[in-house]
Amino acid sequence: MKKGLKESIIFKVNSAHPQLEKIKNAANVIKQGGLVAFPTETVYGLGADGLNIKACSRIFSVKKRPANVPLILHIACKKHLFDLAKKIPREAKDLIDRFWPGPLTLVLPKSRIIPQIVTGGLDTVAIRMPNNPIALKLIKYAQTPIAAPSANLFRGHSPTCAQHVIDDLNGNVDIILDGGKTSLGIESTVLDLTVKPFKILRLGGIIEKDLRKILGKAKLADNRKKIKCPTNNFHPSVCSPGKMILVEKTKDQTSKMQELALQFRMSGKKVGVMATKENKNKFNGCVVKVIGSEKDLNTCALNLFSTLRSFSRENIDVLIAQGFKRKDIGLTIMNRLQKNIKKGSP
Ligand code: AMP
Ligand code: MG
Repeated sequence: MKKGLKESIIFKVNSAHPQLEKIKNAANVIKQGGLVAFPTETVYGLGADGLNIKACSRIFSVKKRPANVPLILHIACKKHLFDLAKKIPREAKDLIDRFWPGPLTLVLPKSRIIPQIVTGGLDTVAIRMPNNPIALKLIKYAQTPIAAPSANLFRGHSPTCAQHVIDDLNGNVDIILDGGKTSLGIESTVLDLTVKPFKILRLGGIIEKDLRKILGKAKLADNRKKIKCPTNNFHPSVCSPGKMILVEKTKDQTSKMQELALQFRMSGKKVGVMATKENKNKFNGCVVKVIGSEKDLNTCALNLFSTLRSFSRENIDVLIAQGFKRKDIGLTIMNRLQKNIKKGSP
């Protein structure tokens, strides 16, 4: 931590039964225009009063986030959607009934009470109800929608535990609510309901197949290959090794990874390998970290960002990442991995 900066106050909070006095303390900070980092089921959020322009502008400066990248508003009660959005399509209700609280963010036409700073000047607003008792209680007692992007520096990896937030933002946040590890570890799915057919803007915790079950096939644009969220591109020099190679899931994936690892090691490079448990003993002389089991991709998603973060402390020259089948949560993981690749990687 830099000299001169104060440290953030850190409250350990029981995630199943949050201690009310800690939550009320944090909620008061939000009410007074301060910043509170808190856990959701996806990742930790950097929260401010979503109706307070000054408070929201602090989010942008602390994260070093450009002003045109909009924030998601978090609510604790479904009916508050009607205060924040206008022209809510019928399908929104079905989606909310099925997926809220949960990792689905809906983009809707914004109501007048939402300041432009939240939406980056857009006429639409992104809203979700998180599925985490700490987050829900904090929003409830703050009595306001909480604007909360992920609590990391812009283009860094999303934080999945309080230590990640401390590493990135200590001293720049008033309170950090430490509720342990998040349960999903990957951000929400962002669904735009202002266009027809509806469109996934960001892959995330809710998979496309489950959205289609609710919406019907025709109502959701088939944009799997085009899904791109340019604002979420990582900057490898900030957060991860200089070079990352993503090896696609094919029959000869493991031998390809081994070949690459050997090649780099022969040229004197320190090689990192992010692999599944099943492959962990197959890369001699490399820094191997296990992301999870091939049989449990949800756990791989949960461990993704923390594993990438831990590689950035290893001083490796190249990271070889084991890819996953581009299906369901595997597709989301691949999307995040691709964003982590530096342009011009070998
Ligand atoms: P994060 O900052 O990690 O919470 O990510 C928020 C995501 O929601 C970003 O990818 C934004 O581009 C997206 N988002 C937020 N508001 C809107 C909006 N009004 N229209 C489209 N995308 C949005
Ligand atoms: Mg983010």
